[in-house]
Amino acid sequence: MCGRILSMKVLAVNCGSSSVKCQLFETSLEAVQGNCDRQLGRVLIEHVGAAEAVIRSDGTETRRPLADHLAAIDLAVKTLSPRPREIDAVGHRVVHGGERFSAPVEIDDAVAAEIESLCDLAPLHNPENLKGLRAARAVVPHARHVAVFDTAFHQTLPPKAYVYGLPDAVWRRHRLRRYGFHGSSHRYVAWRYAQIHGFARQDYKLITFHLGNGCSVSAVEGGKSVDTSMGFTPLEGLLMGTRSGDIDAGAVLHVMTKEGLTAAEMDALLNRRSGLYGLSMASNDMRTLLDLCSRGHASARLAVDAFCYRARKYLGAYFAVLDGCDAVIFTGGIGENAAPIRAAICESLGSLGIRVDLSRNAAATGVEAKVSQDRSGVEVWVIPTDEGLVIARDTLRCLEGIVE
Ligand code: ADP
Repeated sequence: MCGRILSMKVLAVNCGSSSVKCQLFETSLEAVQGNCDRQLGRVLIEHVGAAEAVIRSDGTETRRPLADHLAAIDLAVKTLSPRPREIDAVGHRVVHGGERFSAPVEIDDAVAAEIESLCDLAPLHNPENLKGLRAARAVVPHARHVAVFDTAFHQTLPPKAYVYGLPDAVWRRHRLRRYGFHGSSHRYVAWRYAQIHGFARQDYKLITFHLGNGCSVSAVEGGKSVDTSMGFTPLEGLLMGTRSGDIDAGAVLHVMTKEGLTAAEMDALLNRRSGLYGLSMASNDMRTLLDLCSRGHASARLAVDAFCYRARKYLGAYFAVLDGCDAVIFTGGIGENAAPIRAAICESLGSLGIRVDLSRNAAATGVEAKVSQDRSGVEVWVIPTDEGLVIARDTLRCLEGIVE
């Protein structure tokens, strides 16, 4: 049943340093229950602050200068809703909630100040999220605003999973612990798996792979994250489009010393010039790499093999963490679309009860589908994520006072 009573129009806002993504949703608790809330429109703006911003909406592309996030959000809101007063709430993606925020929170001046105090932990992301937050509060002042944190879902990690082996005083002083990211996406696919199966959340154990440009994997037990691959920053864990993922800290010190790199230069090397891109010396785009592999490109092959091998190692590790699991779930641009990658990560894992059905897997591109064999002890699923939808739903639940 998709009732329209008590429905809300929620604007989901995701701001980067020069980009603004706004999606308008109509949602309600009933619609969430029936998985039938809908997107009314979306606007993606890039190159904010440059000579010409690129504005994409409903298949059209226009260009015009947009000085800052305020101008961009103002345009997005006017494009999405001729009557902005109809927007009931705005949900903001905020990358880092530190240890302070373990759930979405309605934003007032005090919360905005707390988010600002966390900029130290996410210097590349939180300041940009804050710009969007301030701009949207100015453009849509009548609406209620909610912050939805990438880190929140992982606040349930036990201390043994989130500490690094560092001196106590050092890690406490610098809040140096594993936080995890992509939380909204992991939580959404775990929730959706339970919804599809009619389970209560406490009934299942899942390993959820979010494989996009950034990649992470989580162990989820009873609806709670108990371990995840990203750490203090989104650099740790799986190999990603341009990020190295796990690397010996000793290797980092060695390169810095030998090549005389500053911290900023090493940061750029690890975050922007490594991963699939660095290894293949060709591309960070999985489509391009798979194409190159099919034409015998050796470095692309190495990059893709290393990507799958790392993911497979985490799968094994989280199988041990959870003492077995009910399902492995793939989401994100690669997870949803790249059947050969899913197959390579899960191949020859019959001893763990994981058996992919190759034809189901090959047929599943960007759609919700079970891709394991019926006799597989562990199910394997593709569940497309939609971070905008997750933000809109979290905003609704927060304002309705529903705690999960
Ligand atoms: P972001 O993390 O920026 O949101 P996405 O989740 O959109 O990124 O994932 C981008 C990745 O998904 C890219 O590596 C892209 O090549 C990959 N991808 C998208 N479609 C396909 C496809 N059909 N086959 C293989 N990879 C794909």
